[in-house]
Amino acid sequence: MTDTATRTALVDDVRTALEACGVDLSVVGGDARVSSPITGEPLVGARLDTVADIDAAIGRAAEAFPAWRDTPAPLRGQLVKRWGELLTEHKVHLATLVTAEVGKTPSEALGEVQEMIDIADLAVGQSRQLFGKTMPSERPGHRLQEVWHPLGVVGVISAFNFPVAVYAWNTALALVCGDTVVWKPADVTRLSAIAVDALLARAVAESGAPKGIHQLLLTDADGSRKLVEDPRVALVSATGSVRMGREVGPVVAARFGRTLLELGGNNGAIVAPSADLDLALRGVVFAAAGTAGQRCTTLRRLFVHSSVADQLTKRVVAAYESLQVGDPREEGVLVGPLVNQRSYEAQQAALSAAQEQGGTVLAGGDRELADVHPDAYYVRPAIVSMPEQTAIVHEETFAPILYVMTYDDLDEAIALHNAVPQGLSSAIFTSDQGEAERFLSSAGSDCGIANVNIGTSGAEIGGAFGGEKETGGGRESGSDAWKAYMRPSTQTVNYSGQLPLAQGVTFI
Ligand code: NAD
Repeated sequence: MTDTATRTALVDDVRTALEACGVDLSVVGGDARVSSPITGEPLVGARLDTVADIDAAIGRAAEAFPAWRDTPAPLRGQLVKRWGELLTEHKVHLATLVTAEVGKTPSEALGEVQEMIDIADLAVGQSRQLFGKTMPSERPGHRLQEVWHPLGVVGVISAFNFPVAVYAWNTALALVCGDTVVWKPADVTRLSAIAVDALLARAVAESGAPKGIHQLLLTDADGSRKLVEDPRVALVSATGSVRMGREVGPVVAARFGRTLLELGGNNGAIVAPSADLDLALRGVVFAAAGTAGQRCTTLRRLFVHSSVADQLTKRVVAAYESLQVGDPREEGVLVGPLVNQRSYEAQQAALSAAQEQGGTVLAGGDRELADVHPDAYYVRPAIVSMPEQTAIVHEETFAPILYVMTYDDLDEAIALHNAVPQGLSSAIFTSDQGEAERFLSSAGSDCGIANVNIGTSGAEIGGAFGGEKETGGGRESGSDAWKAYMRPSTQTVNYSGQLPLAQGVTFI
């Protein structure tokens, strides 16, 4: 297929997918053009919201809150159930948009939409399980209990690399918890956001829920700041770089709002001498090169025991050299493009720094397909052998670079693993249960996610997702993550007819 033919097909696919999701293309058209990283070509224009639009959208969400708060949670769950059905029906259309805007392979894009469907399922069940606790009161004839109430307006700021799943993680739970949601997607993924929002609008209309409960802001980081500053927004759930979190966190804290921060990772894996190397190889290559290294959970640091280092490294290099890089829609392609030129430049700068710090590039790092797609940035994922964990290895470069280091002692490897500022995901490959348990113990990995014989990426929605240290401390998705979207009310009921005071205090 020629480049021109590819372009035409891409725009056509995007238009078809948007229309199938119920988006009126005459309304979508606007000045804010979204480009595809596959070709660098502009796709379909989107509107750009003004400061007044942002203010009005937050106002609509705030206005819709009381009615939604007072809707029984299981009924709120029915709305999310319908949304999940629509997401299932339009799975392929949404995946087409994710591929066009982010460059994910169809398999990974479908997987991302599946995460939306999975969290909708989980949230529907959760809508009947917003459990509080009762505690024994120290006073006779008293009942002490904790009840979870809806919080208010939730602002969701999402990153480009999971353009739809992260919104769904937040929104499916926030809606069953009785909150209303204002979404600011990444600038480069506005079209998939418009489609997802249109499907939610349809579910809202069909279920008779208040219209204002979901709002979409098509704006840049400046507009996003308005959302962050607004005292009507009770919780800001922000996913993106540590830099963004550093800006957002203090602004929300200054107005005593709540944050849920899901920030950068710099994920490591340890390969022990007893590891099944076939399994480790597959786990490492998927985690490090999948999604062209553009996952927050991408594997960036590999610590291999010196007894197996040569053997494993050679195999990873061979696998990297055989990876098919290119248009993600083509059969056999496993590595799509980087999101933009800035990302490519960041990768090149990191590779130069790594070499200056004593590293040796073992494979990859070069730009590919520049002749076919001059406005797109394809790179072969890079592996760099590092003599030690130098300054560049402490940074998250959001592109496919895997730094490989060797170790001799597990405690030393765990200490090195934990010696970076980020704390999202981690893994150990071992057949030694004692080693696995040490890694999972409180003295082991300091990350929010710790895996055994699985790579660092590809989490399921049933567990809570998030990380420690500069990753921000937030938890989304399963387990108790729903509690972030509610406020606990501690209630004491006195049915004794007396007024005994707590701690035996006497007064009137
Ligand atoms: P980014 O920080 O550039 O942008 C993320 C979002 O924040 C965008 O919507 C952006 O417009 C907005 N934004 C940026 N500055 C802002 C500000 N000062 N105030 C308000 N909003 C602001 O990140 P990106 O390049 O889109 O995504 C890649 C980063 O996201 C990586 O660091 C990756 O690790 C991280 N990420 C983390 C997770 C996680 O769950 N921990 C998931 C996905 C991505």
